Amino acid sequence: MVDFEVRPNRQPVPEAKRKAILASPGFGKTFTDHMVTLRWSAERGWHDGRLEPYGPFMLDPATSVFHYAQECFEGMKAYRQANGVIALFRPDANAARFTRSAERMAMPELPEELFVRALELLVSQDSDWVPDAVGTSLYLRPFMIATQPGLGFTLPSDSYLFCVIASPATAAFGAGDVPRPLNVWLSEDYTRAAPGGTGAAKAGGNYAGTFKATRQAVGNGCDQVVWLDAAEHTWVEEMGGMNLFFVYAPDGDGRPRIVTPPLTGTLLPGVTRDSLLALAPELGIATGQSRISVDQWRRQCASGELTEVFACGTAAVIAPVGMVKSVSGEWQIGDRRPGPVTLRLREELLGIQHGHRPDPFSWAH
Ligand code: PMP
Repeated sequence: MVDFEVRPNRQPVPEAKRKAILASPGFGKTFTDHMVTLRWSAERGWHDGRLEPYGPFMLDPATSVFHYAQECFEGMKAYRQANGVIALFRPDANAARFTRSAERMAMPELPEELFVRALELLVSQDSDWVPDAVGTSLYLRPFMIATQPGLGFTLPSDSYLFCVIASPATAAFGAGDVPRPLNVWLSEDYTRAAPGGTGAAKAGGNYAGTFKATRQAVGNGCDQVVWLDAAEHTWVEEMGGMNLFFVYAPDGDGRPRIVTPPLTGTLLPGVTRDSLLALAPELGIATGQSRISVDQWRRQCASGELTEVFACGTAAVIAPVGMVKSVSGEWQIGDRRPGPVTLRLREELLGIQHGHRPDPFSWAH
């Protein structure tokens, strides 16, 4: 069993400064006092587990990750619950996705138990950094990088570093009771992922390739890019950092229905997406997974069949989409204000995460 040596930070952030940060944390800007690291080599497997002061790494400039981006990561949150207890949300789901990402990137498997233990260790040590307002949390960023020095690239690295860092966070795109609707940019020039590629893995390279399109989106007054499939440029896949759900008006049985694109291998299987597919039926909302074309999206907004669209992911939890823009035109969704299904799901999911609502699936850890 891998053990973690504990090296406490002798110069933690002073309490007054930490409290000022927690009052208005933003997202991914400031980090806690510690990090957890683990090393892997072909001879020793996982070893040298440490909880140590947050700080820079010293790496050879020829280190593989700098050149060939052999890397994968996760994003998840710890929430302070109503009773003061700190809970991770579905860490087993993130551990499983991390394993799948590592496998796709030809990196070693980190046992799920070790992944979760590393998170628990960091969150316990830096528990004073977990904010308590609803919509705030401690964002956790586990990642693994290839550390072999040398520019040969016919084989994967023979050594790796796993690390977890933590950053207090406000929910992206407005943590208030009524979240701000997003404007989204349909990218017609670029694609994020192709069949057989790495789109379903949470690998850094997937994101490097998207910044140019995101800059275009921001330049057009949008928050995020909506990615279409690479082959036909017809089917909606997901957004830059969130999955998409389409909300249909109640049909014969009086239940609204939420539909999300299926996991074709080119989009990221979001933990929030999976959670909503499980939770919605408990709330009397039907679910489906099927392909949606851009044309259908536009037509069904115009006809009123499609009443709401929302994006979901760890960072923003659930964010309504109000407006779709692209080079070839734009349209709005409903009256552009967050709809009742979006708000209901958001409230229920945040309620489970913060321990204000029953947790029917035992997601809190
Ligand atoms: N798609 C992409 C491309 C993402 O980066 C994320 C964020 N991890 C998501 C979807 C949403 O995934 P999750 O709900 O697990 O945060």
